[in-house]
Amino acid sequence: MIIVMKPGTPQGIVEALVTQLHEWHLETQTIVGRENTVIGLIGDTSSLIDDRVSELSPFIDRVLRVKKRFKRASREFHPEPTVITIPTGNGPVLIGGDAPLVVMAGPCSVENEQMIIQTAQRVKAAGAQILRGGAYKPRTSPYDFQGHGESALELLAAARAATGLAIVTEVMDTSDLDAIVEVADIVQIGARNMQNYSLLKKVGQQPRPILLKRAFSATIDEWLLAAEYLLAAGNPNVILCERGIRTFDRQYTRNTLDLSAVPVLRTLTHLPVIVDPSHGTGLSQFVESMSKASVAIGADGLMIEVHPDPSRALSDGPQCLTPDQFDAVMESLAPIAQVIGRPWVKAGVPVA
Ligand code: PEP
Ligand code: MN
Repeated sequence: MIIVMKPGTPQGIVEALVTQLHEWHLETQTIVGRENTVIGLIGDTSSLIDDRVSELSPFIDRVLRVKKRFKRASREFHPEPTVITIPTGNGPVLIGGDAPLVVMAGPCSVENEQMIIQTAQRVKAAGAQILRGGAYKPRTSPYDFQGHGESALELLAAARAATGLAIVTEVMDTSDLDAIVEVADIVQIGARNMQNYSLLKKVGQQPRPILLKRAFSATIDEWLLAAEYLLAAGNPNVILCERGIRTFDRQYTRNTLDLSAVPVLRTLTHLPVIVDPSHGTGLSQFVESMSKASVAIGADGLMIEVHPDPSRALSDGPQCLTPDQFDAVMESLAPIAQVIGRPWVKAGVPVA
């Protein structure tokens, strides 16, 4: 259930109402929007009588029922888009709402110091604001490269120090979370862990923004309920990442990039949505087209794999762009962003 207050309701009135609701043993979340303040009631509100709630204050504009199982993630709960601030060495980067497109780029795995610093410098020069790189890798086969772990976190910290780029890296195990939070500006939960609920609960309790990738076979409801776990655990800064799902045809692409999820999510949730065309297609030759399409449909950002020498990459080489190819993709996106009116920032400089 949500209570929408009339525009201009004094804060003291909202606070008194929240106190009253707590006396009724209801958990609340107050969201102060540009026009209205909304009080969300969490938990089982089925026994509440809407009229009794409406009568609590003349400042209540309306009482609505959120029928969906995700509450905090829903647009009803939080009508305005969530805009997340990521601190970087080059100034804060915003994701969501009307903020400029955000590009996260870098290798699948952090392999050594030289490659991560070199990649960071190149993606920064091309206009990316955030460096991606896996230290702990979820690999389908136990015999594949598993990531360099904690030592790779140190290399990510070195790349941050060298370029000022923010860092996004994946957590697979709660025992690594503290070390990851020391280095990461965004903590990634990968497709394979989207429904690892004990991990979600723990990651939702740490302070960094979270990038939640869609599982291969997750419906949009399941994905938003996974986001709900993070929000319910106390972290409001969740970014959704569409990275392709499994369908019947795997002959020509690794996954099927469900771009329709982006406009659908806009109707359901206030959370920012980005697209990963690298895992979404699995092949570098298709990354540019799908990046352009993602910008055209209004994605808030992109996550793109870039490696100095994809043919030698320890993971996901076929889908990694070279730094030169990444330059070309970034160049190709600016006019699309301009056409749809999305602000575009190249290497920290706004482009008209
Ligand atoms: C990754 O980002 O390298 C990764 C493993 O992604 P996903 O979880 O989407 O497969
Ligand atoms: Mn990868």
